[in-house]
Amino acid sequence: MAIAFIDLQAQRKRIEPQINAAVQKVIESGAYIMGPEVKQFEADLAAFSGAKHALGCANGTDAIALPLMAWGVGAGDAVFCPSFTFCATGEVVPWVGATPVFVDVEPDTYNINPDHLVAQIERILKDGKLKPRVIVGVCLFGQAANYPRLREIANKYGMKLIADSAQGFGTTINGKHPSDWADCVTTSFFPAKPLGCYGDGGGIVTNDTALAEIIDSLRVHGKAVASDLKGKTFDHDPKYLNMRVGMNSRLDTIQAAVLIEKLKIYADEIVLRNKVAARYNELLKPHVAAVPFVKPGFVSTWAQYTIEHDNRDGLAAHLKTQDIPTAVYYPVPMHMNQAYREWAPKPGELAVTEAKAERVISLPMHPYLDIATQDRIIEGVRTFNG
Ligand SMILES: *Cc1c(COP(=O)(O)O)cnc(C)c1O
Repeated sequence: MAIAFIDLQAQRKRIEPQINAAVQKVIESGAYIMGPEVKQFEADLAAFSGAKHALGCANGTDAIALPLMAWGVGAGDAVFCPSFTFCATGEVVPWVGATPVFVDVEPDTYNINPDHLVAQIERILKDGKLKPRVIVGVCLFGQAANYPRLREIANKYGMKLIADSAQGFGTTINGKHPSDWADCVTTSFFPAKPLGCYGDGGGIVTNDTALAEIIDSLRVHGKAVASDLKGKTFDHDPKYLNMRVGMNSRLDTIQAAVLIEKLKIYADEIVLRNKVAARYNELLKPHVAAVPFVKPGFVSTWAQYTIEHDNRDGLAAHLKTQDIPTAVYYPVPMHMNQAYREWAPKPGELAVTEAKAERVISLPMHPYLDIATQDRIIEGVRTFNG
């Protein structure tokens, strides 16, 4: 039988009656936009991550754009992010007219390298053309970036810090969530992400009450929010007062209803994912160039289980003959993609990123990967003599 790379149906079977009932309820209620389930899910999400506020939005890309808009990031501003990531991380930077500055990654975690970040910030300051404004860390493959260090750097240079946790929502460092350090944590509920819905969706978590309020305004066309209305009277329904140029980026009520049910089992799923990963690590370590490294005190959500191999493409072809699916995240770093070449740093600057792009390969990973199936995958890797 063909092996699923991510088996979403196994999860659906676990909570099928609850999900079906929740979706049915929204359909019958008619509150399709910003219905009560959105508020409920936002409260649940904030509680899950121990943060004051959570806001739904349309997808994980908008989730990164919204704080940039809220802070007025624009022309003349530099936003620092890794190049070894899904393109959405850096894509939103030119949206607002700012300049992406790509930073290399650590060779063991694939996350943004704080030392190289400092070097890049210093270089931008020396050039004197751009103002360093924001750092975007990414929880690549599920593991938190070094947010304590990134916070120190952000403070030193007077910058904001976003944790792009689309792959790592729920990851912790010594039991604390990235929201303990980042000004906001963003995530995606794209179905294949660790916490996914049944379509597009996104979220932002923050302890910054003022930021949460502005994002709430921006996601609904810059509508007036409480602080805009304070001490003022209006002749019209404040709903139609646009205080700032915003966008339409709401989480659908049906998706919120799905997410309420999925969040209830999410902590358990993170435990299951870690069991799968630990078993892979133990049994694959002697056979591949590198198994994933998770720093002491860090808990990954294992969006991907990514190994390194000297003959990555040969391994992929070998596994394919055995109906074992694999994927490469990411074959082309952002700065080497056509759309982003104008912001590519000088050759050799992102050496680790460029080397890893040639070596990484991800194996099937989800909370419900059973031992027999996992053994087939491990055996497939072991029997490759390339
Ligand atoms: C998936 C992903 C996003 C974007 O999420 P969408 O919901 O697809 O817009 C952003 N950053 C990272 C790291 C991702 O993996």
